[in-house]
Order: sequence, then C-alpha cells, then structure tokens
Amino acid sequence: MKFGGTCLGTEDTLRKTARVIKAEGDDKIVVVSAASGVTNSLKELISKPMQESEIDDFLLRLRLRHVDLLPKRNGASRKEALEMIEKKITKLDRLLYGVMYTEELTPRTSDLILSAGERLGAIIVAARLSHLKLDAVPMETDALGLVTNNQHLNAVANLSECEKNLKPTLESAVKRGILPVVTGFFGITKNGHVSTFGRSGTDYSASVIAHSMKSGPIEIWKDVDGFMSADPKMVKNAFLLDRLSYEEAAELAYFGAQVLHPRAVQPARLRGIEIVVKNLYYPKSPGTVVGNSRATRKDVIKSVSYVPKVATLKIYDTGAGYKSGFLSDISTCLTKEGINLFSATTSQTCVAVIINESDASAAKKAMKAHIAGVGESFEIEEGRALVCAVGEGLGHSKGVAARVFKAVASKDVNVELISAGASTVAYHFTVDHKDLRKTVTEIHKEFFGYV
Ligand code: ASP
Ligand code: MG
Repeated sequence: MKFGGTCLGTEDTLRKTARVIKAEGDDKIVVVSAASGVTNSLKELISKPMQESEIDDFLLRLRLRHVDLLPKRNGASRKEALEMIEKKITKLDRLLYGVMYTEELTPRTSDLILSAGERLGAIIVAARLSHLKLDAVPMETDALGLVTNNQHLNAVANLSECEKNLKPTLESAVKRGILPVVTGFFGITKNGHVSTFGRSGTDYSASVIAHSMKSGPIEIWKDVDGFMSADPKMVKNAFLLDRLSYEEAAELAYFGAQVLHPRAVQPARLRGIEIVVKNLYYPKSPGTVVGNSRATRKDVIKSVSYVPKVATLKIYDTGAGYKSGFLSDISTCLTKEGINLFSATTSQTCVAVIINESDASAAKKAMKAHIAGVGESFEIEEGRALVCAVGEGLGHSKGVAARVFKAVASKDVNVELISAGASTVAYHFTVDHKDLRKTVTEIHKEFFGYV
C-alpha cells in the first residue's frame, strides 16, 4: 500500500490513511512519500546559497510540522517517535550546515538531503498506526538494501539485488506480525550512497518492493479515484476507467495523467502484479486496476491526456538521414543538461524533439554550445501542447487515427508533430497551446459523446 504526500499532509488525512491500512488486515507493507510540500521545500532550500538563520528557521518549521502530525496521546510510542524525529532533524541540520560552509552541493549530497522527507514521513505514519494498536515499524530503504545504479537524482533499481536484500527482511518482519512502514523515493547505490528516483518516485519504490516480494496487488492511495477518460478539469463528462493494460497506463502516465509515476509500471509488469489506484476519500470506490488485461473498447480509444506546456526543438541538417549518430548526438547534448525528451520524429533533413517548455532556454544553450558538431541550424517553437490518445488495439484498428484527426480538424486546429506507430496503444501529437482545450474536448466527444 503506497501513500502519497497528500495522504500525509494533515492530521485528518493521516487518520484516514491509518484507518484504511488497519481495515485491510494483515500481511501488508506500507510505503510512504514525504508529507506534501516537504520535498519541494527541501529542494527549494538547497537550490541557492543558504544563511545560518534560514537553515535554523527551516528546521524549526520542519520539526514542528512533523511533531504536530503525531498522535497527541499515546505516551510511549509518541516519545519514541519524537526521539526519532529529533535524530533525523539533527542529521539534516549537520548536512545543511556542511553544504552551507563548503558552498558545494553534489547530486549525491542532494539525494541524501532530499531523502529526509520520506524518513520523517515513515515515522509519523508508523506512529499513527501504533495509535491504532498495530505493530508498525518505520524502515528505511537504504538500510534495507534497495540497491540502485549510480545515477543520482534519477536512479534505477537493481531488481535482483533488491529481491535478495528486501525479501528476507520484510518477509520475516511480516511473519512476526510487524507492519513495515517503508520510505519511498530513494534507495542506495552499491557504493553505499543514498540515491533518489526522481520526483514522485515513491510509486516506483512501491512497485520495486512488490517485485522483490513477488506479491501484490500494489495499491496506490491518493486523492483522486483513478485514471479517467480525460482530465475532469477540462472535460466535464470525463469518467473513471475501471481497467487499463500496463502499456496504456504507462503511456497515459508519461503523457500527462498525474495518477501514477510512469516508471512504476515496469517492475510490476515483470511479475504480472496488478496496480490499483485508490482514493483515500472514497476507499470503497474500486479505482482503476492496471494489469495484464488487453481489453479493447469497441471504439478503441480509452483516454485522452495532455502535457500542457511543451516546446518543439528542430535540428536541421541536409544530410540528417545519412549521418550516423545524429540522433544520439542530439540526445547526448540534451541529456547532459538534464533535459527529458518526450518524443522524437525525424525526416531526411530535420529531427524534431519535444521537450518541456520549462527546458527551452536550457535546450537553446545546449544546442548553441554544440551546434557545430550537431546539425547546421536549429529552432525552438514554444507555446505548444502535447495531446495523447490511448487505447489497446490502436495499432491494429482501421480508421481510428482518421477519426482522431478529423475531430481535431473540425475545430480548425492545426496538428503539428505526430507520432504514431512506436506504441501500439498510443498516438500523440502537438497543437498550439491555445487550442489544447478544444482539441481534448473534441476527441473526447468523438469517442464518448456527451453524457
Ligand atoms: N517526496 C518525493 C517527491 O515529492 C517522492 C514522492 O512524492 O513520490 O517527489
Ligand atoms: Mg510527492
């Protein structure tokens, strides 16, 4: 059972969290994120030079927030939790002062600092559960041996090492009636350094742990019902989807549906473990089940998602089609700047890649620095939006693409870059940002009509 930051945000949501955990009976493992806003505030704090007073104020607030989230009454376990919080704060204090004095922040140290949020989160959730007479113990994934590669800030778990380390410890804890409350978001490299999975990485942690345990389902508890046919903020009659295949969920998650971390799908899929998205506010709602089912709808399309602000980077070179390594040069150049590529389309004279609009100026800089080696010229078009239509069977059904694009054209919207065929369950394309709402609404209308 994975609980995101909003579940840990307030005393009320923490009570609800503890209640749904208790209601599910024995033999489970809880995985938690940091309380909402904590990772952001840590990131923000270390993003610029710090002052002593700033660190002191920050830690005072962080300590208070977590102490306030402890149950007020259960004497012994409250005292124990208070001591644990104190230890975490002291360590963080030393780390932050170290960074301030050395004026040096490596990705490795960043990861260690960012992991503090989940460590505190596990303590407060375990304390809530003890209050309900469960034998809950906070456990940290570096100590448990959730081994990752060396890519700090965006690590990948080493699944076989994880299984070796996690399974015996967690299994014997559960057998002894202990309820492990495990930190999400980070693991440890083989050299023994804390490494994080990137923002919202706790879904991935839960999936890695389920993979290690060879056991499921994985429940992702949040403040929404699950995957929808479209963003309900944009499309009034959007509805909840009861089932999605792993591929559909991964495409939707990657292209904008903020329900599940896209990387969470892979470890679960390897073992055929189902992922169920659940709503903390309506625990009885069945949510969306993500699994092996390859069910197709008659009209194929199941959902339309979007990334609201993207930019298209076009790199021109008359010989692009003949140059070996052209694509890899471009991606190396952007990866060095930490820029994520959503997708790439190519022709003989141009490679076009879609990136987040917030990365546009970094991409410009990177391309300027390398343009002599990569391509003849380049341009960046900002103000685009990426739309993604998803459905099992897309790659094998006739006429679906025509319906998608006819619907878009009927609203006088120009489709810019199209990518289809790489995935058999998704198309995506870009439009001008100002046309986003009508594009999504019109596709939804074409396939689902008005309710
Ligand atoms: N706390 C981390 C973040 O905010 C991880 C997570 O929430 O899953 O990105
Ligand atoms: Mg979070």
